[in-house]
Amino acid sequence: MSERITRYNPARVYELVGTVPAADPARVDAVVRAADAAQRDWARVEVADRVAALRAAADAVEPHLPILAELLARESGKVLADCRGELGFALTFLRWVAEHAPRVLADTALDDAAGRLLLRRRPYGVVAAITPWNAPIILSFLKIAPALAAGNTVVVKPSPLAPLAIDRTVRLLASALPAAVLQVLHGDAAAGAALVGHALVGKVAFTGGTATARVTAAAASAQTTPTVLELGGNDPVLLLDDADLSPEPMRRLVMASFATSGQVCMAAKRLYVPESRHDEFVAAYRAAAAEVLCLGDPLAAGVSMGPVVTAEAAARITGLVEDAVARGGRALPVGRVDPGADLRAGHFVTPTLVTGVPEDAPLVAQEQFGPTVPVLSYRDEAGLIARANAGELGLGASVWSADEERAFAVARRLEAGFVFVNTHNRTGMSLRAPFGGVKRSGYGREYGEEGIAEYAQTCVVHAPAAFRAGGAGAAANAYPAS
Ligand code: NAD
Repeated sequence: MSERITRYNPARVYELVGTVPAADPARVDAVVRAADAAQRDWARVEVADRVAALRAAADAVEPHLPILAELLARESGKVLADCRGELGFALTFLRWVAEHAPRVLADTALDDAAGRLLLRRRPYGVVAAITPWNAPIILSFLKIAPALAAGNTVVVKPSPLAPLAIDRTVRLLASALPAAVLQVLHGDAAAGAALVGHALVGKVAFTGGTATARVTAAAASAQTTPTVLELGGNDPVLLLDDADLSPEPMRRLVMASFATSGQVCMAAKRLYVPESRHDEFVAAYRAAAAEVLCLGDPLAAGVSMGPVVTAEAAARITGLVEDAVARGGRALPVGRVDPGADLRAGHFVTPTLVTGVPEDAPLVAQEQFGPTVPVLSYRDEAGLIARANAGELGLGASVWSADEERAFAVARRLEAGFVFVNTHNRTGMSLRAPFGGVKRSGYGREYGEEGIAEYAQTCVVHAPAAFRAGGAGAAANAYPAS
């Protein structure tokens, strides 16, 4: 009998949520071979018919959203409203791809004085999609939808920390598609490595941590398989001296750090405030947090923050705060606790704002990926930008100012793949805006037209004018003039 991956509820650790079978190397091989065998037929389907199948796949998932959202909340510890939101957004994204892919993937044909040129957008073959636990539905859809639209087949390997809802979702999508066009298999490093290193995989799309990415990219490169890497961030928030600190933007900023208990790649992870407004900011932030941040069971009404994903994550995050305090920082608990919550039943971590912490503390210098955020004060803009750009990560950042021109001018100086203005995290995303990192936060893009084009490679057919019928000819080894 095959091994099974077991998932308990992070909010109630005694509650078994479900199990999925773990794929051994033989199973990984069989799944990839089936995907490869299905790929050529799928690529021959017209793009209009492929996106029609994607729309049907979205329709097949839609009626199951409430049950899938609850399953996702119970396996991951994310609050129910967020899980519903993630699933709904994933379907919106899939339908957006169905609408735009035919144009993005269309052939370009030129026939002029320089010759006849055909640019074709061809699939890579089998796409291996490796995804993390923190947003397993949308992060899988960001790969599945454009890859399938472009004529690839897809094998998804989700994280063993949240495999259940994505397993069911992929199976529902696949029920509306030809056999083996979309498959899911489970496991951790061994299954992931077997999939990524498989000779029949044509492209690897990976979202996860930087350390795992290095191993994954190395395994892919052993086969010269191209990769897209969407990795961690340590996003700075730059509140300029004219930033609006009234309750509405402050509530937005609080949730930008604490949604999903801070376990989001593009969470607001370092808060830079002008020294002259530090105390005013901390007071405004705490007041907003008391309103919008409520810690408790993810299924309970009114709760906006659940537990973290594992006991190890809870210990690591608590350790970061203790270390910051030992270095002279001051930890200020923020938000409130739902009166019905039993915080001893799960991996709950008190949301914390930390002031007065030195810049080289791990809480500031590393991605904390948890419900704690440092407040750092600055005196001048030049120093601020250097501090915001410090470190090897460059995923997101935000600039907050009453003056949009000024905010954009500062944004242009930041080393980040995506700079939000007067917001941060998912409220600042757009289906049409490509998302991805610079520096060690990865390469390649998701969302937008670039996120579709990522799954197609341009192939060319060219008849140079000189050698076409009626052409003037050229030397046998001539360089082109245009
Ligand atoms: P992780 O790196 O531990 O795991 C990611 C995936 O890689 C999982 O499916 C895991 O099973 C798999 N994996 C592990 N070892 C592997 C191997 N040797 N070969 C192939 N696959 C392997 O990440 P996580 O803890 O699940 O997620 C948290 C990280 O993801 C954070 O750093 C976060 O910032 C990042 N993240 C980035 C984005 C983005 O879009 N940039 C989005 C969400 C999360």
